[in-house]
Amino acid sequence: MSTSSKSKTSDQDMSRWQAFVHRCQTCKACPLAVSRKHVVVWRGGINAPLMILGEGPGAEEDRLGKPFVGRSGQLLDLLLSIFEFTEDDYHIANIVKCRPPGNRVPTPEEAAYCQPLLSEQLRLVRPKVYLLMGATAYRYFTGEDNAISRVRGRWIVSNNCYILPTFHPAYILRDPRKKTLMWQDFAMLREKMEELLLMPPLYRGTSS
Ligand code: SF4
Repeated sequence: MSTSSKSKTSDQDMSRWQAFVHRCQTCKACPLAVSRKHVVVWRGGINAPLMILGEGPGAEEDRLGKPFVGRSGQLLDLLLSIFEFTEDDYHIANIVKCRPPGNRVPTPEEAAYCQPLLSEQLRLVRPKVYLLMGATAYRYFTGEDNAISRVRGRWIVSNNCYILPTFHPAYILRDPRKKTLMWQDFAMLREKMEELLLMPPLYRGTSS
């Protein structure tokens, strides 16, 4: 269970959240609205201290209306469970909330249209720590264009928040040799959550 001081959701928070979700579900601001099956808003806790951001929904996410529920999501969930994150600890979302056809990268225009919704989501959830998964999430979130392999595993501190870029799980599925690096990033993430008193210490065994 999360030790976050804001783990309880007030009625006011809940009604704001429901209004936000309704706004997302009825959004037709960009051309991605035409081909989507579902608007994919989030999964996890709505007051979670950790925000996990990916690029955009894929086919399974579009079908089910939740982010990271396909093969990439299974790998993400495995890592989250190994490091004992619960649903109250994280909030998973994407740069764009509707599926780009053929799983292409969202265009800058699509990301810009969706950005006000993401900003509102961040204001409502108020995370302290961010995990940016993949080059697209990193680029659109930070405005920087560095290769993800160069910036992953290094903390960025901005506005009193801690931001950690890492690989997208789909990349690890294509190139399993990078799995160890992503594992290291999750270990760093877990340690930061503890350091900030956002999660209880993880049992790491004894050195005998
Ligand atoms: S991707 Fe974002 S801006 Fe575009 S229609 Fe969907 S919710 Fe609206």
